[in-house]
Amino acid sequence: MSIDFSARYVMTIGGKAATGTETITVVNPATAEAIATAPNASREQLDQAVDGARAAFALWAAKPVSERQSTLRAMAERLNANIDGLSQLLTREQGKPLDAARNEVLSAAHWCAEFSKLSLPVDTIEDSNTTLVQTRHVPLGVVGGIVPWNFPLVLALWKVAPALLAGNTLVLKPSPFTPLTTLKFGELVRDLLPPGVLNIVSGDDRLGPWMSSHPGIDKISFTGSTATGRKVMQSAAGNLKRLTLELGGNDAAIVMPDVDVEALAPVLFWAAFANSSQFCLATKRLYVHEAIYEQMANALVRIGRSVKMGDGSAEGTQLGPIQNRLQYQRLINLVEDSRFHGHRFLLGGEIPKGKGFFFPVTLIDNPPDDSRVVKEEPFGPILPLLKFSTIDEAVVRANDSEYGLGASVWARDYRQGQAIAERLQAGSVWVNEIHTITPHKPMAGHKQSGIGVENGLVGLLEYTVPQTLSIKKADAPRAAP
Ligand code: NAD
Repeated sequence: MSIDFSARYVMTIGGKAATGTETITVVNPATAEAIATAPNASREQLDQAVDGARAAFALWAAKPVSERQSTLRAMAERLNANIDGLSQLLTREQGKPLDAARNEVLSAAHWCAEFSKLSLPVDTIEDSNTTLVQTRHVPLGVVGGIVPWNFPLVLALWKVAPALLAGNTLVLKPSPFTPLTTLKFGELVRDLLPPGVLNIVSGDDRLGPWMSSHPGIDKISFTGSTATGRKVMQSAAGNLKRLTLELGGNDAAIVMPDVDVEALAPVLFWAAFANSSQFCLATKRLYVHEAIYEQMANALVRIGRSVKMGDGSAEGTQLGPIQNRLQYQRLINLVEDSRFHGHRFLLGGEIPKGKGFFFPVTLIDNPPDDSRVVKEEPFGPILPLLKFSTIDEAVVRANDSEYGLGASVWARDYRQGQAIAERLQAGSVWVNEIHTITPHKPMAGHKQSGIGVENGLVGLLEYTVPQTLSIKKADAPRAAP
Protein backbone atom coordinates (compact mmCIF):
# COMPACT_ATOMS: atom_id res chain seq x y z
CA MET A 1 0.00 0.00 0.00
CA SER A 2 1.69 3.22 -1.05
CA ILE A 3 0.25 6.69 -0.64
CA ASP A 4 1.45 10.24 -1.09
CA PHE A 5 2.20 11.72 2.31
CA SER A 6 2.80 15.23 1.08
CA ALA A 7 -0.57 16.16 -0.39
CA ARG A 8 -4.35 15.84 -0.27
CA TYR A 9 -5.42 15.25 3.28
CA VAL A 10 -8.88 13.72 3.47
CA MET A 11 -11.11 12.35 6.18
CA THR A 12 -12.37 8.77 6.33
CA ILE A 13 -16.13 8.60 6.71
CA GLY A 14 -18.08 5.37 6.21
CA GLY A 15 -15.05 3.76 4.59
CA LYS A 16 -14.65 6.49 1.97
CA ALA A 17 -12.46 9.53 1.50
CA ALA A 18 -14.28 12.75 2.41
CA THR A 19 -13.20 16.32 1.79
CA GLY A 20 -14.73 19.33 3.49
CA THR A 21 -16.35 22.36 1.96
CA GLU A 22 -14.16 24.32 4.39
CA THR A 23 -10.58 23.71 5.45
CA ILE A 24 -8.31 24.30 8.43
CA THR A 25 -4.71 25.42 7.92
CA VAL A 26 -1.86 23.41 9.36
CA VAL A 27 1.36 25.21 10.29
CA ASN A 28 4.90 23.85 10.62
CA PRO A 29 5.93 25.13 14.09
CA ALA A 30 9.60 25.25 13.10
CA THR A 31 8.91 27.90 10.47
CA ALA A 32 5.48 29.26 11.54
CA GLU A 33 4.47 28.80 7.89
CA ALA A 34 1.39 27.03 6.56
CA ILE A 35 2.22 23.62 5.10
CA ALA A 36 -1.16 22.16 4.23
CA THR A 37 -4.88 22.33 4.69
CA ALA A 38 -7.10 19.65 6.17
CA PRO A 39 -10.87 19.27 5.89
CA ASN A 40 -12.99 21.19 8.36
CA ALA A 41 -15.80 18.71 9.01
CA SER A 42 -19.32 20.05 9.00
CA ARG A 43 -21.95 18.97 11.51
CA GLU A 44 -23.54 16.86 8.74
CA GLN A 45 -20.25 15.10 8.08
CA LEU A 46 -19.89 14.26 11.76
CA ASP A 47 -23.45 12.89 11.70
CA GLN A 48 -22.54 10.76 8.66
CA ALA A 49 -19.47 9.43 10.48
CA VAL A 50 -21.54 8.57 13.58
CA ASP A 51 -24.30 6.98 11.45
CA GLY A 52 -21.68 4.97 9.55
CA ALA A 53 -20.14 3.81 12.82
CA ARG A 54 -23.58 2.83 14.22
CA ALA A 55 -24.42 0.91 11.06
CA ALA A 56 -21.11 -0.97 11.18
CA PHE A 57 -21.29 -1.81 14.89
CA ALA A 58 -23.45 -4.95 14.96
CA LEU A 59 -21.37 -6.87 12.41
CA TRP A 60 -18.01 -5.72 13.79
CA ALA A 61 -19.02 -6.66 17.34
CA ALA A 62 -20.20 -10.08 16.15
CA LYS A 63 -16.89 -10.95 14.52
CA PRO A 64 -14.74 -13.45 16.39
CA VAL A 65 -12.12 -11.66 18.46
CA SER A 66 -9.41 -13.46 16.46
CA GLU A 67 -10.50 -11.52 13.37
CA ARG A 68 -10.29 -8.20 15.16
CA GLN A 69 -6.89 -9.20 16.57
CA SER A 70 -5.57 -9.92 13.10
CA THR A 71 -6.86 -6.56 11.87
CA LEU A 72 -4.76 -4.87 14.57
CA ARG A 73 -1.72 -6.86 13.47
CA ALA A 74 -2.31 -5.76 9.89
CA MET A 75 -2.54 -2.13 11.08
CA ALA A 76 0.79 -2.53 12.88
CA GLU A 77 2.35 -3.83 9.66
CA ARG A 78 0.97 -0.90 7.65
CA LEU A 79 2.36 1.58 10.17
CA ASN A 80 5.79 -0.04 10.13
CA ALA A 81 5.84 -0.29 6.34
CA ASN A 82 5.10 3.43 6.04
CA ILE A 83 7.38 4.70 8.77
CA ASP A 84 9.36 7.06 6.53
CA GLY A 85 6.36 8.95 5.14
CA LEU A 86 4.51 9.04 8.44
CA SER A 87 7.45 10.19 10.53
CA GLN A 88 8.48 12.94 8.11
CA LEU A 89 4.93 14.23 8.07
CA LEU A 90 4.73 14.03 11.86
CA THR A 91 7.89 16.12 12.19
CA ARG A 92 6.54 18.72 9.77
CA GLU A 93 3.24 19.17 11.54
CA GLN A 94 4.26 18.54 15.17
CA GLY A 95 7.83 19.84 15.19
CA LYS A 96 9.51 16.95 17.03
CA PRO A 97 12.92 15.66 15.85
CA LEU A 98 12.73 13.05 13.12
CA ASP A 99 14.14 10.28 15.35
CA ALA A 100 11.45 10.99 17.91
CA ALA A 101 8.81 10.96 15.18
CA ARG A 102 10.07 7.57 13.99
CA ASN A 103 9.86 6.30 17.57
CA GLU A 104 6.30 7.54 17.76
CA VAL A 105 5.32 5.61 14.62
CA LEU A 106 7.10 2.48 15.91
CA SER A 107 5.36 2.89 19.21
CA ALA A 108 1.94 3.26 17.54
CA ALA A 109 2.60 0.00 15.66
CA HIS A 110 3.82 -1.68 18.84
CA TRP A 111 0.59 -0.71 20.65
CA CYS A 112 -1.48 -2.32 17.89
CA ALA A 113 0.65 -5.45 17.87
CA GLU A 114 0.57 -5.86 21.65
CA PHE A 115 -3.16 -5.13 21.97
CA SER A 116 -3.75 -7.81 19.36
CA LYS A 117 -2.55 -10.33 21.97
CA LEU A 118 -5.31 -9.39 24.42
CA SER A 119 -8.82 -10.74 24.51
CA LEU A 120 -11.87 -10.13 26.64
CA PRO A 121 -12.18 -12.36 29.69
CA VAL A 122 -15.35 -14.24 30.59
CA ASP A 123 -15.77 -14.54 34.36
CA THR A 124 -17.63 -17.63 35.50
CA ILE A 125 -19.47 -16.94 38.72
CA GLU A 126 -21.34 -20.25 38.96
CA ASP A 127 -21.21 -23.42 36.88
CA SER A 128 -23.28 -26.14 38.57
CA ASN A 129 -25.45 -29.00 37.28
CA THR A 130 -28.40 -26.66 37.03
CA THR A 131 -27.04 -23.16 36.55
CA LEU A 132 -24.43 -21.24 34.57
CA VAL A 133 -23.71 -17.64 35.52
CA GLN A 134 -21.10 -15.73 33.55
CA THR A 135 -20.10 -12.13 33.19
CA ARG A 136 -18.98 -11.15 29.72
CA HIS A 137 -17.50 -7.86 28.64
CA VAL A 138 -19.40 -6.57 25.64
CA PRO A 139 -18.65 -3.52 23.50
CA LEU A 140 -20.38 -0.20 24.14
CA GLY A 141 -21.23 0.85 20.59
CA VAL A 142 -19.79 3.96 18.98
CA VAL A 143 -16.74 5.49 20.65
CA GLY A 144 -15.59 9.06 20.04
CA GLY A 145 -11.82 9.44 20.36
CA ILE A 146 -10.41 12.96 20.91
CA VAL A 147 -6.63 13.40 20.79
CA PRO A 148 -4.17 16.26 21.56
CA TRP A 149 -1.26 17.58 19.51
CA ASN A 150 1.79 16.42 21.49
CA PHE A 151 1.81 12.75 20.40
CA PRO A 152 -0.87 12.77 17.71
CA LEU A 153 -0.33 9.32 16.27
CA VAL A 154 0.52 7.15 19.25
CA LEU A 155 -2.21 8.65 21.43
CA ALA A 156 -4.69 8.03 18.62
CA LEU A 157 -3.63 4.37 18.49
CA TRP A 158 -4.03 4.13 22.27
CA LYS A 159 -7.72 4.59 21.49
CA VAL A 160 -8.03 2.84 18.12
CA ALA A 161 -6.45 -0.45 19.27
CA PRO A 162 -8.55 -1.15 22.40
CA ALA A 163 -11.77 0.36 21.03
CA LEU A 164 -11.74 -1.80 17.90
CA LEU A 165 -10.42 -4.92 19.62
CA ALA A 166 -13.30 -4.77 22.10
CA GLY A 167 -15.77 -4.68 19.19
CA ASN A 168 -16.70 -1.00 19.15
CA THR A 169 -16.66 1.26 16.13
CA LEU A 170 -14.89 4.59 16.32
CA VAL A 171 -15.06 8.22 15.28
CA LEU A 172 -11.60 9.66 15.85
CA LYS A 173 -10.70 13.34 15.95
CA PRO A 174 -7.11 14.59 15.91
CA SER A 175 -6.20 18.05 17.20
CA PRO A 176 -6.75 20.83 14.65
CA PHE A 177 -3.04 21.65 15.13
CA THR A 178 -1.86 18.16 14.05
CA PRO A 179 -4.45 16.39 11.90
CA LEU A 180 -2.27 15.33 8.95
CA THR A 181 -0.55 12.15 10.17
CA THR A 182 -3.81 10.82 11.61
CA LEU A 183 -5.68 11.50 8.37
CA LYS A 184 -2.98 9.65 6.43
CA PHE A 185 -3.17 6.77 8.90
CA GLY A 186 -6.91 6.57 8.13
CA GLU A 187 -6.15 6.40 4.42
CA LEU A 188 -3.48 3.74 4.98
CA VAL A 189 -5.72 1.31 6.86
CA ARG A 190 -9.02 2.02 5.08
CA ASP A 191 -8.98 -1.26 3.14
CA LEU A 192 -8.28 -3.32 6.27
CA LEU A 193 -11.64 -2.58 7.89
CA PRO A 194 -15.32 -2.86 6.97
CA PRO A 195 -16.72 0.59 6.04
CA GLY A 196 -17.74 2.64 9.07
CA VAL A 197 -15.65 0.79 11.66
CA LEU A 198 -12.98 3.51 11.82
CA ASN A 199 -13.94 7.07 10.88
CA ILE A 200 -11.45 9.92 11.09
CA VAL A 201 -12.76 13.47 11.08
CA SER A 202 -10.79 16.71 11.31
CA GLY A 203 -12.06 20.15 12.09
CA ASP A 204 -11.90 23.35 14.05
CA ASP A 205 -12.90 24.09 17.65
CA ARG A 206 -16.55 23.24 17.03
CA LEU A 207 -15.93 19.59 16.26
CA GLY A 208 -14.88 18.37 19.74
CA PRO A 209 -17.95 19.81 21.50
CA TRP A 210 -20.20 18.41 18.75
CA MET A 211 -18.73 14.99 19.46
CA SER A 212 -18.89 15.10 23.23
CA SER A 213 -22.56 16.11 23.12
CA HIS A 214 -23.52 13.83 20.19
CA PRO A 215 -26.46 11.54 21.07
CA GLY A 216 -25.15 8.84 18.71
CA ILE A 217 -21.82 8.43 20.52
CA ASP A 218 -21.83 6.07 23.51
CA LYS A 219 -18.41 6.81 24.97
CA ILE A 220 -15.81 9.51 24.71
CA SER A 221 -12.18 8.61 25.19
CA PHE A 222 -10.46 11.96 25.58
CA THR A 223 -6.82 12.91 26.00
CA GLY A 224 -6.10 16.57 26.58
CA SER A 225 -6.04 19.28 29.19
CA THR A 226 -7.92 19.17 32.49
CA ALA A 227 -9.82 22.35 31.56
CA THR A 228 -11.17 20.75 28.37
CA GLY A 229 -11.79 17.47 30.19
CA ARG A 230 -14.21 19.26 32.50
CA LYS A 231 -16.12 20.61 29.49
CA VAL A 232 -16.25 17.17 27.90
CA MET A 233 -17.66 15.71 31.10
CA GLN A 234 -20.38 18.36 31.22
CA SER A 235 -21.47 17.97 27.63
CA ALA A 236 -21.36 14.16 27.78
CA ALA A 237 -24.15 14.11 30.36
CA GLY A 238 -26.97 14.27 27.78
CA ASN A 239 -26.93 10.55 27.00
CA LEU A 240 -24.80 9.48 29.99
CA LYS A 241 -21.78 8.72 27.85
CA ARG A 242 -19.09 6.55 29.35
CA LEU A 243 -15.91 8.56 29.75
CA THR A 244 -12.21 7.96 29.83
CA LEU A 245 -10.44 11.25 30.49
CA GLU A 246 -6.65 11.31 30.34
CA LEU A 247 -5.82 14.84 31.40
CA GLY A 248 -3.02 17.11 32.48
CA GLY A 249 -0.23 16.44 34.94
CA ASN A 250 2.26 18.31 37.07
CA ASP A 251 4.55 15.43 37.88
CA ALA A 252 6.97 15.71 40.77
CA ALA A 253 10.34 13.97 40.96
CA ILE A 254 11.93 13.57 44.39
CA VAL A 255 15.71 13.21 44.39
CA MET A 256 17.34 11.84 47.55
CA PRO A 257 20.85 12.88 48.64
CA ASP A 258 22.47 9.47 48.07
CA VAL A 259 22.12 9.48 44.25
CA ASP A 260 25.01 9.77 41.81
CA VAL A 261 24.28 13.32 40.67
CA GLU A 262 26.37 13.35 37.51
CA ALA A 263 24.94 10.04 36.29
CA LEU A 264 21.36 11.00 37.14
CA ALA A 265 21.33 14.55 35.78
CA PRO A 266 20.96 13.54 32.08
CA VAL A 267 18.17 11.12 32.98
CA LEU A 268 16.28 13.83 34.85
CA PHE A 269 16.98 16.35 32.12
CA TRP A 270 15.31 14.20 29.46
CA ALA A 271 12.53 13.18 31.85
CA ALA A 272 11.65 16.87 31.97
CA PHE A 273 12.55 18.15 28.50
CA ALA A 274 11.92 15.31 26.00
CA ASN A 275 9.46 16.38 23.29
CA SER A 276 10.22 19.95 24.42
CA SER A 277 8.35 19.04 27.63
CA GLN A 278 5.09 18.70 25.71
CA PHE A 279 4.43 15.45 27.46
CA CYS A 280 1.68 14.77 29.99
CA LEU A 281 4.02 12.67 32.14
CA ALA A 282 7.06 14.95 31.83
CA THR A 283 8.72 15.80 35.12
CA LYS A 284 7.39 19.27 35.84
CA ARG A 285 8.54 19.87 39.44
CA LEU A 286 11.99 18.69 40.49
CA TYR A 287 12.41 18.36 44.27
CA VAL A 288 16.10 17.95 45.07
CA HIS A 289 17.51 17.33 48.54
CA GLU A 290 19.37 20.38 49.83
CA ALA A 291 22.63 18.43 50.23
CA ILE A 292 22.93 17.94 46.45
CA TYR A 293 20.77 20.80 45.15
CA GLU A 294 23.63 22.99 43.99
CA GLN A 295 25.48 20.17 42.27
CA MET A 296 22.32 18.95 40.52
CA ALA A 297 21.40 22.47 39.41
CA ASN A 298 24.87 22.98 37.92
CA ALA A 299 24.76 19.63 36.11
CA LEU A 300 21.34 20.38 34.60
CA VAL A 301 22.46 23.83 33.46
CA ARG A 302 25.49 22.28 31.75
CA ILE A 303 23.32 19.78 29.87
CA GLY A 304 20.75 22.46 28.99
CA ARG A 305 23.50 24.59 27.45
CA SER A 306 24.74 21.74 25.28
CA VAL A 307 21.41 20.63 23.85
CA LYS A 308 20.69 21.37 20.20
CA MET A 309 17.29 22.92 19.55
CA GLY A 310 16.07 23.44 16.00
CA ASP A 311 13.93 22.29 13.12
CA GLY A 312 13.06 18.66 13.80
CA SER A 313 13.91 17.69 10.24
CA ALA A 314 17.52 18.95 10.58
CA GLU A 315 20.26 16.46 11.40
CA GLY A 316 21.26 16.44 15.06
CA THR A 317 18.25 18.33 16.44
CA GLN A 318 17.46 17.14 19.95
CA LEU A 319 14.61 19.50 20.84
CA GLY A 320 12.06 20.90 18.42
CA PRO A 321 9.83 23.95 18.70
CA ILE A 322 6.66 24.39 20.72
CA GLN A 323 3.87 22.94 18.62
CA ASN A 324 1.63 25.99 18.26
CA ARG A 325 1.52 29.72 18.77
CA LEU A 326 -1.12 29.57 21.51
CA GLN A 327 0.99 27.27 23.67
CA TYR A 328 4.13 29.28 22.88
CA GLN A 329 2.40 32.45 24.08
CA ARG A 330 1.26 30.67 27.28
CA LEU A 331 4.89 29.80 28.03
CA ILE A 332 6.02 33.36 27.39
CA ASN A 333 3.38 34.57 29.86
CA LEU A 334 4.56 32.04 32.42
CA VAL A 335 8.21 33.17 32.29
CA GLU A 336 7.07 36.80 32.38
CA ASP A 337 5.16 36.00 35.56
CA SER A 338 8.28 34.41 37.07
CA ARG A 339 10.39 37.40 36.07
CA PHE A 340 7.80 39.79 37.53
CA HIS A 341 7.95 37.91 40.83
CA GLY A 342 11.74 38.07 40.90
CA HIS A 343 12.47 34.35 40.42
CA ARG A 344 16.07 33.54 39.58
CA PHE A 345 16.65 31.95 36.19
CA LEU A 346 19.48 29.42 36.18
CA LEU A 347 19.10 29.02 32.42
CA GLY A 348 16.88 30.25 29.60
CA GLY A 349 13.86 32.49 29.83
CA GLU A 350 14.97 34.65 26.88
CA ILE A 351 12.90 34.07 23.76
CA PRO A 352 15.08 33.82 20.65
CA LYS A 353 14.29 36.05 17.69
CA GLY A 354 13.49 34.51 14.34
CA LYS A 355 10.97 32.23 12.72
CA GLY A 356 9.29 29.36 14.49
CA PHE A 357 7.99 28.79 17.99
CA PHE A 358 11.32 28.05 19.65
CA PHE A 359 11.37 28.29 23.42
CA PRO A 360 14.64 27.78 25.30
CA VAL A 361 15.26 25.23 28.03
CA THR A 362 14.49 27.22 31.17
CA LEU A 363 15.48 26.30 34.74
CA ILE A 364 14.12 28.32 37.63
CA ASP A 365 15.90 28.35 40.98
CA ASN A 366 13.72 27.34 43.92
CA PRO A 367 10.62 29.49 43.24
CA PRO A 368 7.95 29.63 45.99
CA ASP A 369 5.51 26.71 46.15
CA ASP A 370 2.58 28.99 45.40
CA SER A 371 4.09 30.51 42.25
CA ARG A 372 2.37 29.88 38.93
CA VAL A 373 5.39 28.04 37.54
CA VAL A 374 5.07 25.45 40.32
CA LYS A 375 1.26 25.26 40.54
CA GLU A 376 0.46 25.16 36.82
CA GLU A 377 1.36 22.62 34.16
CA PRO A 378 3.66 24.59 31.81
CA PHE A 379 3.57 21.96 29.02
CA GLY A 380 6.77 23.41 27.67
CA PRO A 381 10.46 23.55 28.63
CA ILE A 382 10.25 25.44 31.92
CA LEU A 383 11.33 23.46 34.99
CA PRO A 384 11.29 24.73 38.58
CA LEU A 385 14.02 23.22 40.78
CA LEU A 386 12.78 22.99 44.36
CA LYS A 387 14.93 22.42 47.44
CA PHE A 388 13.79 20.14 50.28
CA SER A 389 15.21 18.98 53.61
CA THR A 390 13.08 16.06 54.85
CA ILE A 391 11.19 13.21 53.22
CA ASP A 392 7.92 14.19 54.90
CA GLU A 393 8.24 17.71 53.57
CA ALA A 394 9.00 16.48 50.04
CA VAL A 395 6.02 14.12 50.04
CA VAL A 396 3.60 16.80 51.29
CA ARG A 397 4.82 19.31 48.72
CA ALA A 398 4.79 16.77 45.86
CA ASN A 399 1.21 15.82 46.74
CA ASP A 400 0.09 19.43 47.03
CA SER A 401 -1.39 19.57 43.54
CA GLU A 402 -4.77 19.24 41.89
CA TYR A 403 -3.02 16.85 39.47
CA GLY A 404 -1.98 13.25 40.10
CA LEU A 405 -0.79 11.78 36.82
CA GLY A 406 2.77 10.58 37.43
CA ALA A 407 5.69 10.94 39.84
CA SER A 408 9.17 9.55 40.37
CA VAL A 409 11.58 8.94 43.23
CA TRP A 410 15.32 8.68 42.87
CA ALA A 411 17.29 7.02 45.69
CA ARG A 412 20.29 4.70 45.79
CA ASP A 413 18.39 2.72 48.41
CA TYR A 414 15.48 1.55 46.26
CA ARG A 415 13.53 0.32 49.33
CA GLN A 416 13.56 3.83 50.70
CA GLY A 417 12.51 4.97 47.22
CA GLN A 418 9.63 2.52 47.25
CA ALA A 419 8.48 3.68 50.70
CA ILE A 420 8.37 7.26 49.42
CA ALA A 421 6.70 6.23 46.14
CA GLU A 422 3.89 4.49 48.00
CA ARG A 423 3.00 7.81 49.67
CA LEU A 424 2.65 9.71 46.40
CA GLN A 425 -0.78 10.48 44.99
CA ALA A 426 -0.31 9.67 41.31
CA GLY A 427 -1.40 7.00 38.87
CA SER A 428 2.06 6.05 37.56
CA VAL A 429 4.96 6.18 40.00
CA TRP A 430 8.51 5.20 39.10
CA VAL A 431 11.51 4.48 41.33
CA ASN A 432 14.96 4.90 39.75
CA GLU A 433 13.46 4.69 36.27
CA ILE A 434 10.93 6.79 34.41
CA HIS A 435 8.49 6.71 31.52
CA THR A 436 8.70 2.95 31.11
CA ILE A 437 5.21 2.99 29.66
CA THR A 438 4.05 -0.17 27.89
CA PRO A 439 0.76 -1.35 26.35
CA HIS A 440 0.37 -3.73 29.32
CA LYS A 441 0.75 -1.25 32.20
CA PRO A 442 -2.50 0.46 33.21
CA MET A 443 -2.18 4.24 33.26
CA ALA A 444 -4.68 6.17 35.36
CA GLY A 445 -4.79 9.78 36.44
CA HIS A 446 -5.48 10.44 40.11
CA LYS A 447 -7.31 13.58 41.24
CA GLN A 448 -7.92 16.00 38.35
CA SER A 449 -5.51 14.22 36.04
CA GLY A 450 -8.30 12.05 34.81
CA ILE A 451 -11.03 9.50 35.12
CA GLY A 452 -10.54 5.92 34.04
CA VAL A 453 -7.57 4.02 32.70
CA GLU A 454 -5.71 3.57 29.46
CA ASN A 455 -3.61 0.53 28.54
CA GLY A 456 -3.47 -2.98 29.89
CA LEU A 457 -6.46 -5.27 30.30
CA VAL A 458 -8.06 -2.71 32.64
CA GLY A 459 -7.75 -0.12 29.88
CA LEU A 460 -9.29 -2.52 27.35
CA LEU A 461 -12.23 -3.18 29.67
CA GLU A 462 -13.00 0.56 29.67
CA TYR A 463 -14.28 0.01 26.12
CA THR A 464 -16.80 -2.56 27.32
CA VAL A 465 -19.72 -2.91 29.66
CA PRO A 466 -20.30 -6.02 31.79
CA GLN A 467 -23.14 -8.31 30.84
CA THR A 468 -24.13 -11.00 33.31
CA LEU A 469 -25.78 -14.04 31.77
CA SER A 470 -27.70 -16.36 34.11
CA ILE A 471 -28.73 -19.64 32.49
CA LYS A 472 -30.88 -22.44 33.93
CA LYS A 473 -29.46 -25.62 32.39
CA ALA A 474 -32.46 -27.86 33.12
CA ASP A 475 -35.54 -27.75 30.87
CA ALA A 476 -37.70 -24.76 31.54
CA PRO A 477 -40.70 -25.68 33.77
CA ARG A 478 -43.76 -26.36 31.68
CA ALA A 479 -47.12 -24.88 32.36
CA ALA A 480 -49.57 -27.39 33.86
CA PRO A 481 -51.82 -28.98 31.19
P1 NAD B 1 -6.75 20.41 24.69
O1 NAD B 1 -7.56 20.00 25.87
O2 NAD B 1 -6.70 21.83 24.30
O3 NAD B 1 -7.24 19.63 23.37
C1 NAD B 1 -7.30 18.22 23.32
C2 NAD B 1 -8.30 17.82 22.25
O4 NAD B 1 -9.61 18.24 22.65
C3 NAD B 1 -8.06 18.45 20.87
O5 NAD B 1 -8.36 17.47 19.88
C4 NAD B 1 -9.07 19.58 20.85
O6 NAD B 1 -9.47 19.94 19.54
C5 NAD B 1 -10.24 18.97 21.60
N1 NAD B 1 -11.15 19.93 22.23
C6 NAD B 1 -10.94 21.23 22.53
N2 NAD B 1 -12.02 21.75 23.14
C7 NAD B 1 -12.94 20.75 23.23
C8 NAD B 1 -14.25 20.67 23.79
N3 NAD B 1 -14.84 21.71 24.37
N4 NAD B 1 -14.89 19.48 23.73
C9 NAD B 1 -14.30 18.40 23.16
N5 NAD B 1 -13.06 18.42 22.62
C10 NAD B 1 -12.38 19.59 22.66
O7 NAD B 1 -5.30 19.82 24.96
P2 NAD B 1 -3.98 20.03 24.11
O8 NAD B 1 -3.51 21.43 24.34
O9 NAD B 1 -4.21 19.55 22.71
O10 NAD B 1 -2.99 18.99 24.82
C11 NAD B 1 -2.24 19.30 25.95
C12 NAD B 1 -2.87 18.74 27.21
O11 NAD B 1 -3.10 17.34 27.06
C13 NAD B 1 -1.97 18.86 28.42
O12 NAD B 1 -2.71 19.29 29.52
C14 NAD B 1 -1.46 17.44 28.64
O13 NAD B 1 -1.03 17.16 29.95
C15 NAD B 1 -2.64 16.64 28.23
N6 NAD B 1 -2.25 15.28 27.89
C16 NAD B 1 -2.63 14.27 28.72
C17 NAD B 1 -2.23 12.95 28.46
C18 NAD B 1 -2.61 11.81 29.37
O14 NAD B 1 -2.50 10.66 28.94
N7 NAD B 1 -3.06 12.07 30.57
C19 NAD B 1 -1.47 12.69 27.31
C20 NAD B 1 -1.11 13.75 26.49
C21 NAD B 1 -1.52 15.04 26.78
